[in-house]
This record gives sequence, structure tokens and C-alpha cells, in this order.
Amino acid sequence: MNTKKKIFYNRIILKISGEFLQGKNISGIDNKLLNYIIQEIQSILPLGIEIGIVIGGGNLFRGRYCNKNNNVKRVLGDQIGMISTIINGLLLYNSFKNKLINVYLMSSLPIKSICQEYNIFKAIDLIKNNIIILTGGLGNPLFTTDTTACLRAIELEADAVLKATKVNGVYSKDPINYSNAKFFNLINYDYLIKNKIKIMDNTAFLLARDYNIPIHIFNIYKPGSLYKIITGQIIGTIIKNS
Ligand code: UDP
Repeated sequence: MNTKKKIFYNRIILKISGEFLQGKNISGIDNKLLNYIIQEIQSILPLGIEIGIVIGGGNLFRGRYCNKNNNVKRVLGDQIGMISTIINGLLLYNSFKNKLINVYLMSSLPIKSICQEYNIFKAIDLIKNNIIILTGGLGNPLFTTDTTACLRAIELEADAVLKATKVNGVYSKDPINYSNAKFFNLINYDYLIKNKIKIMDNTAFLLARDYNIPIHIFNIYKPGSLYKIITGQIIGTIIKNS
């Protein structure tokens, strides 16, 4: 059901890191945060927003942390990392289902018995009436789920990537160490590149820049942020080409 609220983005790719799901634990899943993120997403459903969620896996496994000592090579580590994103995706899927919310789980790393393989045409159809959870990253090692979010946003013609983080947005310097750090509501990609302010890995960032996808960075720990962004309140930082 659509309300009469002004809508800032109609179709979004929401990037949630695995790290968010672990909360204050060193790894794993904190159910309180899982429930919280479901509620935050549920709050925007009455607005009729089309939502694709790209979920990370860093709370369970990250390929880049593998090294010679644990005898797992990077490529295998990344495959385990991609499987971790499917585990997180299954938990999100289950939580939405429990609330009778229309949801589909897709994976670029297919595991036929538990989820559909990512298919752009199916995804474009499904996103109109369902939340789609996009797992398995890109299905290839050496990439990240940030890159996945940017690529899927381009493919699925989303209005923006909304990156849920623990910080309010983008600052000129680290605000913890520099009291004169300036906060940006709006900033362009070239400024961030020139000043070496890293928000995502470069592959993700350059894709978004080159294909004109805005990235909206916001603090997911502040309740109601997602709703505020969708209804056009000025919070977080929008990165785009000027
Ligand atoms: N990964 C990968 N290819 C992809 C996406 C992810 O190999 O296209 C692996 C990689 O090992 C990564 C892990 O999956 O470290 C979890 O993804 P990511 O680090 O992006 O998760 P997040 O930091 O968002 O929790």
C-alpha cells in the first residue's frame, strides 16, 4: 500500500555488512541486530519501495584474512566467504518469511537445494513485488559484496546503493582523531578519489562512479535512518557525480 509521502529513492540496493550482524561479538550473529534490521526494512515497506539486499559475510569468514599459517589459500577462503553470505542471507530470508513478508533469496554461487541462482531477468521481475536478498557476492573470488552491491544496482537499475554503516557518513578526516573534521552531506566521487578517502574498495567505488550510481552512506545504528532517507530527510552522505 502506498502512502502519500514523498519518496526519494524508489528502487534501492541496500548493502548490509556481515559485521553489522555480529554486533559486539567477535563473530557470528546477534539475534537482536537481526531483528532490528528486519524492523528497519519493514518500516519502509508501506512506502512501496523496491528493495534488493546485498548481504556480506564478514561476521563468519573473510577470504582476505586467510594466510599461509592457516593453510587456506585466498581463493578457497573467498569461496568460504561467499558461502558465509548465503548463511546470512538464509537468516534474513527466514526472518522476513516469519513476518509473512514477500521475499526471495538468490545466490550468485548456486546451491540449488536452498536458493535460486541469481538471474538478472528474474531479479528485475521479482524486485517489483518482493524483497530480493542477493547472496554469494558475485560468485567469484577476489571481489567484495560492496562491489556486488554496485554492480547489482547498475544491472537492476536501482536509484542508489544505500550502504548501512556504523558511522554517520563521510568526513574530510577521521572525526575521532581530528576535531576539525568536516562532515559532508553531499560529495562527488572525484573529490573522494583525489583526497584518498576510502569508503569502499576501489572496484566498487569506480563502478558506481563510472555508471552513475549514487551511494548513500548512513548510520544504521540510529533507528529510523532508513525511513528518513527514503522520505527525503537529509541524513548521511550522498556520493555522486556532480
Ligand atoms: N567474497 C568473494 N567474492 C564476492 C563477494 C565476497 O569472494 O564477490 C568473499 C570474500 O572472501 C569476502 C567474503 O566473501 O571477504 C565476505 O564478503 P565481504 O567481505 O564483502 O562482507 P562484509 O565485509 O560486507 O561483511
